[in-house]
Amino acid sequence: MRNKIVAGNWKMNNNQAETSALLSELSAKLPDTEAEVMVAPTYINLVSAIGDLEGSTIQVIAQNMHFAESGAYTGEISADMLLNVGIDTAIIGHSERRAYFGETDEILKKKVVAALQNNIRVMFCFGEELEDRKSGNHFNVVKSQLKNALFELDKSAWKNMILAYEPVWAIGTGETASPEQAQEMHAFIRETIAEAFDVNIANNVSILYGGSVKPGNAVEIFSKPDVDGGLIGGAALVADDFVAIIKAI
Ligand code: PEP
Repeated sequence: MRNKIVAGNWKMNNNQAETSALLSELSAKLPDTEAEVMVAPTYINLVSAIGDLEGSTIQVIAQNMHFAESGAYTGEISADMLLNVGIDTAIIGHSERRAYFGETDEILKKKVVAALQNNIRVMFCFGEELEDRKSGNHFNVVKSQLKNALFELDKSAWKNMILAYEPVWAIGTGETASPEQAQEMHAFIRETIAEAFDVNIANNVSILYGGSVKPGNAVEIFSKPDVDGGLIGGAALVADDFVAIIKAI
């Protein structure tokens, strides 16, 4: 059975003191839930965040990782470095990494492979731009993002994979895919995985929705049968909002 997951991507926000304060408020207010709850602070605060969350069920995950084992990659972090401090999940392919840091499908494929080889769970992000949706090309774009980065994986890799559908036009814009648009795309993603691998894999992979999820729209989006949770940006930076979204699942 696939897990319900609510993950907060903090992006380049919160220094160490702010990270500790937000985590302490979150821990105090965390509702009882069967969902996995995750937060992704910046690299520099991952270690302190793990310390802050000792004894908590909230998982600390990384926003990114490099594909190489080690070497001359200034500014980058390897799978081994993450594992060594106790991080076993990394977001890969966020649209901001694709747009601002030139991460292509080819690079992302290498990152996914490297993560999985190191037993790092991958939260793979993908989604269409506004023009793709307007021109009706959104299904093709999503299918090719999945194909280019994931279709050559071994079937066994899928137990360590989480998918996050994030239409670029809905990220940080306040505009959200309607619950029906989210469900339609999530069902398509599951169908695409079933065709490329098998139905069992498709039915067992968690597919999160991301794009301006807020306390006011989370219940409706999460109520859709193929939506297994959310990857939350802005609203994850406010403890009460993130807690309300966790309650919504
Ligand atoms: C994100 O960046 O992954 C995201 C979904 O951001 P927001 O919730 O702010 O749209």
